Amino acid sequence: MVANQLPTELWQDTLGWQPSLEQQQQFQTLYELTLAGNSQFNLTRITDPREFWEKHLWDSLRGTTFLLNSPLPVPHPQCIDIGTGAGFPGLPVAIAQSATKVTLLDSTRKKVTFLETLIAEMGMKNATTIVDRAENLGRSLKYRQSYDIALIRAVSSASVCAEYALPLVKVGGLAVLYRGQWTAEESAALEPALSQLGGEIEKIEDFVTPLTASIRHCLYLRKTAPTPHEFPRGTGIPVQRPL
Ligand code: SAM
Repeated sequence: MVANQLPTELWQDTLGWQPSLEQQQQFQTLYELTLAGNSQFNLTRITDPREFWEKHLWDSLRGTTFLLNSPLPVPHPQCIDIGTGAGFPGLPVAIAQSATKVTLLDSTRKKVTFLETLIAEMGMKNATTIVDRAENLGRSLKYRQSYDIALIRAVSSASVCAEYALPLVKVGGLAVLYRGQWTAEESAALEPALSQLGGEIEKIEDFVTPLTASIRHCLYLRKTAPTPHEFPRGTGIPVQRPL
């Protein structure tokens, strides 16, 4: 079973949290449904159970330990996972933290079709989906500045991720950028983009993954001021002309 690939202490030692039996079963179902959907939807290259545990389950949760262990920032945080793909990091977060409402956003219709079926099959009440581009959502009155937390992993460069994420976050909320390698020079290069978007780097956590010792960084960007209305720029522009 995927959640049992590692001793319970490893969850506790590395995340300060461990799943209940019910959550372990949900992780197992998530693994099985992802594998089953892979042939039709080409979701992920990660199919080995230990690799799935480390790269999809553990890594997703490692960026959100502040939701697992502390009092929640607000009683029912609204969270958006931008460019969720097969549902990471959003689905493990929704399983681990049922008080958090997670919106899974992706521009690829077929991935979202898979996620809708999976959410229904798993009976998840705190996860929902949107098919759209982050640029469109960030410019829509309905969604702009309406989330407490934005998560974004493996979508684009850091400044593009910030331009996708910060407009969607409320003032006082947090955008979490999941990165691999990260340097002080990259932080310095990101600062001008953040000041244009109304955010600042609150914290950077660096860690290694527990099985393969792969290097990871999480950037926690605090939204300190409303994002000016010109951001995010229109479809494709953040990538073509990064801030
Ligand atoms: N976050 C997942 C993960 O870490 O496993 C998936 C990463 S996948 C490499 C990048 C995903 O971002 C793709 O599913 C793609 O469709 C989506 N994406 C890229 N640009 C986007 C945008 N502007 N708005 C919404 N989704 C986007």
